[in-house]
Amino acid sequence: MSGFMPYSRQEISDADVAAVAEALRASHLTQGPLVERFEADLARFVGARFAVVFNSGTAALHAAYAAAGIGPGTSVLTTPITFVATANASLYLGGSVRFADVEPDSAQMDPDAADDQSDKSIKVLAPVHFGGEVAGIEALAAVAEARHWTIVEDASHALGATYRTSDGVEHQVGACDHSAICCFSFHAVKQITTGEGGAATTNDEALYRRMKRFRTHGITRDASELTANDGPWYYEQHELGYNYRLTDVQCALGRSQLARYPGWLAARRQVAAWYEERFASVADIEPLRRPQWSRGAHHLFVLRVPPTRRRAIYDELLRRGIGANVHYIPVYHQPFYQRGGFPKTVRPGAEEYYRSALTIPLFPAMTEDQVDQVVAGVVAGLGGRAG
Ligand SMILES: *Cc1c(COP(=O)(O)O)cnc(C)c1O
Repeated sequence: MSGFMPYSRQEISDADVAAVAEALRASHLTQGPLVERFEADLARFVGARFAVVFNSGTAALHAAYAAAGIGPGTSVLTTPITFVATANASLYLGGSVRFADVEPDSAQMDPDAADDQSDKSIKVLAPVHFGGEVAGIEALAAVAEARHWTIVEDASHALGATYRTSDGVEHQVGACDHSAICCFSFHAVKQITTGEGGAATTNDEALYRRMKRFRTHGITRDASELTANDGPWYYEQHELGYNYRLTDVQCALGRSQLARYPGWLAARRQVAAWYEERFASVADIEPLRRPQWSRGAHHLFVLRVPPTRRRAIYDELLRRGIGANVHYIPVYHQPFYQRGGFPKTVRPGAEEYYRSALTIPLFPAMTEDQVDQVVAGVVAGLGGRAG
C-alpha cells in the first residue's frame, strides 16, 4: 500500500456496498425498517434498553442535553480537551458551558476538578472518553450524585470500550450503568461510520421518548402520548424539535459496519500494542496514559512529545506522507468562546496536555510495517536519529 497515510481511515467492504445498494433499491430511502433495526443492534451491542440514532453525533448530544433539561440558566460541565460539539450543543439550547480540567498525562477529566466546581448553574456533567479510553466514570458518578447532576457521556471515541469498577465488575460504555445517556458519533473518522451519524443510548424510557420526539420536530404518533386522536393520519407536536433523522440508507451501512466492528477493535488493540512496545524504548516520547480501569476502544493514538519538538515531528511525518493531528485545541481558546465570556479561562492540565499532544495514525488495516514507518518518522523528527 502506497500513498498518504492518514491519522484515521474508514473501512468500507463489499458487504457494506451491497447493504447500501439493497437499501437504495428498497421502498424507503429515509425512515424505513432499517432505522429501528440499527437501533436494536446498537442497544444490544452496548447493553442498553434503548438507542436513538441521529444524523450526527452533535445532534445526539443536542437531544441528550435537551432531554436532561439543559436550557437558559443551566450549564453543562465538560472538559476543554474535546471537539467543540460537546460544548456547542449546550449553547444551542440557551445553556452555558463550564470546563473542568483534565489530567495532562491521560487527557481525561479530573474528578477532583469536577468536584471543585461551585457553579450552581451546572445541571449536566458531560465527561468525554478521550481517545476511546474510559474517563473516571465511577468517581465522576459519585460527584454527580452528590451534586444532583445528570451524566451525559460523550462516547464519540469509545464504541466498544469497557471499564472495571472498584467492585471488580466490568461495564460496557453505552450501557449507561453510571450515566443517564451515552452519545456516540458515526462520522467517517470514528470507529464505525454512516458517513455522518450518531446515536444516544439510555435505560430511561422517558428520556428515550423525549430524544425520539426531539429528532423529528417534537412530533409523536405514539397513542400513549396523544391528547386526541382524529384518525390514522393524526400526529401531535408537543415541543420544538428538529429534523435530526438518520436515513435507512445510512442505517444499512451502520448495521453492516457494526457487525464487523469486533474484529476492527481487535486490530486497533494490536496496532496500539505495537506502538506501545516500540515507544517504550524512545526517550522523551510517552504514549498517553491509559487509566487502569479502562479497556479502551483505541480511537486515537496520542503521543506526548517535547513541546519544542512537536512541530518538527509533525512536519517530518508529513514529509514522509504520514498524517499527524492534534486532538484537541482547548475549546476555550476558540475565538467564539473567547468572545462568549471565556477569555480568562485557563485550565493548567489542559494547557500542559495541549502543548505536548500529537495524534499519529491508527486504523484497523494498519500493518506492522506502517507502524514502523510512523515510529521512524517520529524518532527522526525528534532529532534522535536520521530515519
Ligand atoms: C466527533 C465528535 C463529536 C461530534 O460528532 P459528529 O458526528 O461529528 O457530529 C462530539 N464529540 C467528540 C469528542 C467527537 O470526537
